Amino acid sequence: MNHQIDSYQLNTMLSSARIGELLKKYDRSGPRYTSYPPATEFKTLTAQVYLDALLQRGYAALPSDPISVYIHIPFCSTPCFYCGCNKVITRNPSAVRKYLDHLRKEMALLRLQTNLHQRPVTQLHLGGGTPTFLDDAEMTELIHHTSHYFNLVNHADRDYSVEVDPRTVNLARIQLLRGLGFNRISLGVQDFDDDVQCAINRQQSVASISALVSAIRICGFRSLNFDLIYGLPLQTLESIDETLRHVIALSPDRISYYNYAHLPERFPAQRAIRAEDIPSASVKLQMLTTIIGTLTAAGYEYIGIDHFVKKDDPLARAQAEGKLCRNFQGYSVEKSQELVGLGVSSISSTGFVFAQNAVQLERYYQALDANQLPIERGLVSKLEDVLRREIIQQLTCYRSLNIDAIEKEFNIDFAQHFSATLHELEQFERDGLIRWVDPKHMTVTTEGTLLLRNLCMAFDEYLQRSTPLRPLFSRAI
Ligand code: SF4
Repeated sequence: MNHQIDSYQLNTMLSSARIGELLKKYDRSGPRYTSYPPATEFKTLTAQVYLDALLQRGYAALPSDPISVYIHIPFCSTPCFYCGCNKVITRNPSAVRKYLDHLRKEMALLRLQTNLHQRPVTQLHLGGGTPTFLDDAEMTELIHHTSHYFNLVNHADRDYSVEVDPRTVNLARIQLLRGLGFNRISLGVQDFDDDVQCAINRQQSVASISALVSAIRICGFRSLNFDLIYGLPLQTLESIDETLRHVIALSPDRISYYNYAHLPERFPAQRAIRAEDIPSASVKLQMLTTIIGTLTAAGYEYIGIDHFVKKDDPLARAQAEGKLCRNFQGYSVEKSQELVGLGVSSISSTGFVFAQNAVQLERYYQALDANQLPIERGLVSKLEDVLRREIIQQLTCYRSLNIDAIEKEFNIDFAQHFSATLHELEQFERDGLIRWVDPKHMTVTTEGTLLLRNLCMAFDEYLQRSTPLRPLFSRAI
């Protein structure tokens, strides 16, 4: 199946009248669907439920079945005003000592109580916060402990990635990260415009990023990702054009271009951003079409919500081969692994269970000091959740829905089960956002790709039931 976006069609279709019409109907709040059900639906969950699920899965899994490990480092030295991550702002380097000791304890408890350590870790991701808040010795210690308690591998096709704040590294640190086994780097670029950088309290010059990109290439990292954001204060269509010009010149292999979510009630740092400096929804939609149009014209493929990759990237191949999946890191190649989340606020998933560690650092420490895994919240998926997750995966990964396959896999009559949703989809069809190839096969049109989240919302049972008292999600546009 061809998943390519017709950027010419996208630009010509989106007249300002058309943008206004779409905004009126579809500018709603909703999840990004990095999981279904979304993490906002998690309730209190005991560590025992998670352990039981791991043990059950452990009996069924082969020792050669791979797992993914995510490690969260929450510390940052200064706040970026747009930030919605779970982080701890500190200038106290000794905060790391206590954290590393507790991470080690968490790994040791898992090793004692499960057989995860026997299985190869084919995907490792170090995220934050700022993982590079750790100094060289601390980073080395962390990887040493991880390899002691888990089966880190040396295969060329492993994906070991680290999020890097460009302000915290130099050539020597990049070399160290490569030497420790990381083969993918994600640089937090966000935007290249000086005024925008000032407004978000994150200043990093084009020259400094360019020097890091050269270092990353020299050190032989297999893949470089840029994290960028549109909808930031003081951004304009012209400044986005200029940022895109620098991005294309630096040629990262992957680009994550997120939609800024302004939720100051939820994320206090965002109160430093003046609402009047944020581009309107209409300008944001034009920014998104510019981003998709410019990057696809430069040879990138838009693989789905927020994500672009070069044509020969493993994610592009996985999409063509039907092996793409959406997860907490965005998109990934494999589907059947356990995800083991370590560190404060990290989320794990195994079988039907999502399990999240304590979000507060003190509670994370308390649980581990009592020799308990620090799980506090999560969810045991119902069969209905699994069904809807599969539909949302098809939409977000392939921008299509194969109803035949869904009916066979879940033994349902789709028309009967989703009669209300199908009624809702009629509006999407009238608006030219979806197209029925035949009665059992729906595809998302080029214009519909801008509103993929809205389409997923139509299948989100939790969203339909919820009446949030305060905004939990960003707007889809
Ligand atoms: S954006 Fe990243 S570096 Fe900035 S405060 Fe948030 S977690 Fe820290």
